[in-house]
Amino acid sequence: MTPHNDRSALAKKFAQYKADFPILSQTIHGKPLVYLDNGASAQRPMAVIDAEQRYATSMHANVHRGVHTLSQRATDAYEGARERVRSFLNAKSSNEIIFTRGTTEAINLVAQSYARPRLGPNDEILITWLEHHANIVPWQMVAAATGAKLVVAPINQAGELDLAAFKSLLSTRTRLVATSHVSNALGTVLPVREIVAAAHAQGVPVLLDGAQAVPHFALDMQELDCDFYVFSGHKLYGPTGIGVLYGREALLEEMPPWQGGGDMILSVSFQGTTYNTLPYKFEAGTPNMSGAVGLAAAIDYVDRIGLADIAEFEQDLLVHATHALTAVAGVRIIGTAADKASLVSFVVDGVHPHDLGTILDQDGIAIRTGHHCAMPVMDFFGLPATARASFAFYNTKAEIDQLATAVASARALFI
Ligand code: PMP
Repeated sequence: MTPHNDRSALAKKFAQYKADFPILSQTIHGKPLVYLDNGASAQRPMAVIDAEQRYATSMHANVHRGVHTLSQRATDAYEGARERVRSFLNAKSSNEIIFTRGTTEAINLVAQSYARPRLGPNDEILITWLEHHANIVPWQMVAAATGAKLVVAPINQAGELDLAAFKSLLSTRTRLVATSHVSNALGTVLPVREIVAAAHAQGVPVLLDGAQAVPHFALDMQELDCDFYVFSGHKLYGPTGIGVLYGREALLEEMPPWQGGGDMILSVSFQGTTYNTLPYKFEAGTPNMSGAVGLAAAIDYVDRIGLADIAEFEQDLLVHATHALTAVAGVRIIGTAADKASLVSFVVDGVHPHDLGTILDQDGIAIRTGHHCAMPVMDFFGLPATARASFAFYNTKAEIDQLATAVASARALFI
């Protein structure tokens, strides 16, 4: 990370980027939009919108099967995007990059193709209490189909994983560890290096759900050494409907295809089918070429800014938001882990989170309220819902101050 002793230089650098996002310059209910729902979906810069438009207006045709010029252009664009994702993740080979619809589909692919054929009645899948439903339900489905058991590692009152308990739950019955890299409900950054080391010491592969990590810090699959890593384009300033499964090549080679159809075969007859090689084996049907191109453009954009600087700037926003919200009477922050990404979950005494979200919307401030698809986390804290402000590098301290003022005014309506 480049040390920026001069915070104002960093703030100045980041002040320029909001203008790259056309959607952010509008007013909502007559007030300038303050977009603090980036954890659900981040906005797209013009560079991404342009790349998708260029693809649609000069390159689009179906991929892989055509000899004509447009089909070759589309194939080059799609495969170029795969290579861009490979370099972004520092994966060893583009055979390790499978395009999916998003994080959810990538986890389901691993659940059905990796876990299901390997699991039996005494086997266990180890997850944590911090998971998004997308990293719970696919494992429950596989457990129900195979008789395997879902084991859940506990968290503490700060919303941090109890690493000692996690290690003690790893056993000879554990077949797979699946954990989030960053919790979407609380912002907790999990100790993924320790998790991977502990699991590998027992010969257990690890899937990391990186949906909330990829926008915030640089990643290196070879250094991280996990076996599967999954994320969604729309949280990384890219399009919806595109995501990535990174998988260690040796494991992907062993896994059967998940879905059947065009593109994932080498030959088909009524006697039998020969499957295609990696990565195509896992990409049945016409893929989302335009989405892949948009994702590659988003990666280029984020890389130009620099993820090290993004991480530093966003940490500054997080500290500011934590202080600003803590200073508002009646506000309690849920999730106080020592290591957090730039989001704050909170509740306000006497104000239901949904009411708070609706009132803030009148001020042009977009936050998310609800269970954040992480109902076990809400249950742990005895809450039906929280309000969540999640920050991107285009947000500012002034916007956070507006949020704090609006929260204080909303509370005043209820006391
Ligand atoms: N995991 C985490 C940690 C998430 O935050 C999300 C999105 N909220 C998902 C999985 C699911 O992502 P998607 O809906 O893009 O498949």
